[in-house]
Amino acid sequence: MTTPGILIKQLFLLAFLGTILPAALPWTAVADDGRVTRLQLGLNAGLTRLVVEASGPIDAELSANSDGLGLILGLPGLRWAAPPAQTRAAGLVAALGLPVRHDERTEIAIDLIEPAVVERAFRLEPQNGPLGPSGHRLVIDLRPADPQAYAEAFAAAIALPLQTAVDIAPPPAVAADRKRTIVLDPGHGGQDPGAISASGRHEKDITLAVTLAMAHRLRATGRYHVILTRDRDRFVRLGDRVALARRHEADLFLSVHADSLRGDRATRGASVYTRADAASDLDAEALALRENRADQLADSAADTDVDDVVSILLDLASRDTARLSGRFAGLLTASMSDTIALRRNALRAANFRVLSAPDVPSALLELGYLSNPGDEALLFSEAGRNKLAAAAVAAIDRFFGADMQAER
Ligand SMILES: [Zn+2]
Repeated sequence: MTTPGILIKQLFLLAFLGTILPAALPWTAVADDGRVTRLQLGLNAGLTRLVVEASGPIDAELSANSDGLGLILGLPGLRWAAPPAQTRAAGLVAALGLPVRHDERTEIAIDLIEPAVVERAFRLEPQNGPLGPSGHRLVIDLRPADPQAYAEAFAAAIALPLQTAVDIAPPPAVAADRKRTIVLDPGHGGQDPGAISASGRHEKDITLAVTLAMAHRLRATGRYHVILTRDRDRFVRLGDRVALARRHEADLFLSVHADSLRGDRATRGASVYTRADAASDLDAEALALRENRADQLADSAADTDVDDVVSILLDLASRDTARLSGRFAGLLTASMSDTIALRRNALRAANFRVLSAPDVPSALLELGYLSNPGDEALLFSEAGRNKLAAAAVAAIDRFFGADMQAER
């Protein structure tokens, strides 16, 4: 347990900075800048996720609350400068307490509905986004646990972030002779053109062309049952795309898109997304907002409840789905990187409605940027589309290939 060491070091640092030469050292900013700027609570694929954002890297300490079932999140060296969390109860969290200042640390009580342990806790570096740079983030995912595991986990305070690797669930056992069902989802269509390139070409056309090329290649292997959410230029609601994948008990759902940034011709490259309530960065958050708008073009505004319903459905059973989605997204990113330029931090997460099936591993591929001339040329060439389709199919093969080997 490294907690006392970290704590002592931080306290020492703060004491040192506060009393001696505060302006003479380049890292005095630590003392000035230690502010919590945001606290978010939400569900992330069955886990209860707490995201702390601060002006500097966050070290935290999580300990059992001696007053009852719950935890105390201690943030050494950080001052509270955040608005109250918008969500005060979600998932395993019954309530968030008000921040309390104790000596050189801020503490927040987290009341729990049932015993829980930390599934993972990791840091996200600041990201530049359309809304400006984000702060440093600490993401804490909690999962339910039996009382004994809870007691053992918090017998002593836990230092966060955890250094342990995230465990990856093995793919579900499937009879080796069963064809895997892949649902491919060409983004947009019909009255919804999606993003539009500088020269006036439509995202909906490129997503359909690339997806058809993928379907052709997948079918040619003889190993997959391939279903498309649309195979021509027509409008399909986001909720209906999700429902189709669930109805067919798909083994994998891949939504294909291309983005465009107004006034930005430089940004280019592919990126891969999984679903998370709390976005990995502001770019991803903004992208999910753009993509989620597709349903506003529907004839009537009937299906507004998809997210709520799915949030309720996202229970523990979906944890494996989330892990499998993450695993596939990793393979897809790796496969794409052999083929085309990737965006920096190409593997991201945000709250995409189309990725909300709780029981189907799902990922969203952004092929590139129609606002970038290089990407546009690539995406609208047959050779480029074939390369992209081949890379996606290689990732799908790898995703299921490991599965088949494991069974033998
Ligand atoms: Zn799109």
